[in-house]
Amino acid sequence: MRPVTLAAVLLVALCSAASAEESAQQSTAALLPQITAWRRDLHQHPELSNREVRTSKFVASELKKLGYEVRTGIAKTGVIGTMKFGKPGPKLAIRADMDALPVTEEVDLPFRSTAKGEYIGKTVGVMHACGHDAHVAMTLGVAEALAKRKNELAGEVMFIFQPAEEGAPPGEEGGAPLMVSDGVFRDFRPDAVIGMHVVSFLNVGDVSVREGGAMASSDTFHIVVHGRQSHGATPWKGIDPIVTASDIVMSAQTIVSRELDLNANPAVVTFGVFNGGERFNIVPDKVELYGTVRAFDEGMRQQALTSLGRIAQNVAEAHGATVDLDIPKPGADPFHSNPVNFNDPALTKRVRASLVAANGADRVSDGDRWMASEDFPQLGNSVPAPSAYFLVGATPKGQDAKTAPSNHSPKFFLDEGALAVGTQSMLKIALDFLGSGGR
Ligand SMILES: [Zn+2]
Ligand SMILES: [Zn+2]
Repeated sequence: MRPVTLAAVLLVALCSAASAEESAQQSTAALLPQITAWRRDLHQHPELSNREVRTSKFVASELKKLGYEVRTGIAKTGVIGTMKFGKPGPKLAIRADMDALPVTEEVDLPFRSTAKGEYIGKTVGVMHACGHDAHVAMTLGVAEALAKRKNELAGEVMFIFQPAEEGAPPGEEGGAPLMVSDGVFRDFRPDAVIGMHVVSFLNVGDVSVREGGAMASSDTFHIVVHGRQSHGATPWKGIDPIVTASDIVMSAQTIVSRELDLNANPAVVTFGVFNGGERFNIVPDKVELYGTVRAFDEGMRQQALTSLGRIAQNVAEAHGATVDLDIPKPGADPFHSNPVNFNDPALTKRVRASLVAANGADRVSDGDRWMASEDFPQLGNSVPAPSAYFLVGATPKGQDAKTAPSNHSPKFFLDEGALAVGTQSMLKIALDFLGSGGR
């Protein structure tokens, strides 16, 4: 009997060693038809930022069915669901964004969106062109898989379904900063916050997570250059704001190329709007400039914004002109600025280990820095708690992901194979965090 018993013990030991790894995939496989159906329904019923009424009701009702304690109406349509597990342990927050974009879908799908909405006074097509439909469906799948293990797990989880990640319509507040000021973490202070995003620039099956500054900060600036109007034939009788503003634009190019330590991180200063003048033979009175500063390090972000102000002020003075500066101070206006999406190194190492366990080492990369920005880091920063954010490939295998229609394109196409990858990845991260005591 003894050899048999030993074999049985070994077999049990082997199975239980494997089960932690397989269970995220097995749970995902079982839930996949449901997740796919949810995603298609959401895809067909997209809602613009701060208008996620149907989506929000759907999320709240599913979370309640699963036994979560649910709070609604946070940041207008935001929903949070919390659950306390059988044993004491750490607190994990998982965030999904819910909003769609004013884009008319050009992908030929049986569940393609024909929805319309209103954006800045115009009727527009509405499409989940950034894949947030997939985020909601996958995250609900993870919520279901965790609820089924309620007694086995340790600690607590909070699912955050966030509106308006793409930015609230002009004149409104919304998104992560509004969730923070509406008290998303009033009764639940997470030890970590995790987010994910589907992206066109990775193929299905591939995931990436990057330690440190992974997505850029974003600060919008506005500069008005005041000169003095004169006849175009006699510019010496006025002060030319077009020449002055041009000089500001050119001098500002030295911020990145001459002042920032590009060994450490890249950065960008872009002028996107240069408005001035009415007629070819009039030197106008003023010029308006709008632009954006992007950085991957909070110190460099601060330095670039400070330099921009100094250059604009002093170049204007050199021309005898004056400037009104609206250059944000980091953190001062969370509704128009985003901090660096900084993946905490220690947390990212753990997330990466979970991603490798769920998907295989050959499928997990560091990924490149992404110059886009996110309001996600505002959640972790507000606690403060470490956060990590990983990317899930959405472009079909065999298609060149570099040239695939990008997120926000009317042709953005999510291969539904991404649903399994994203769900099992997030589930494995959650199981490791909530099963291991979280340390
Ligand atoms: Zn987007
Ligand atoms: Zn997005």
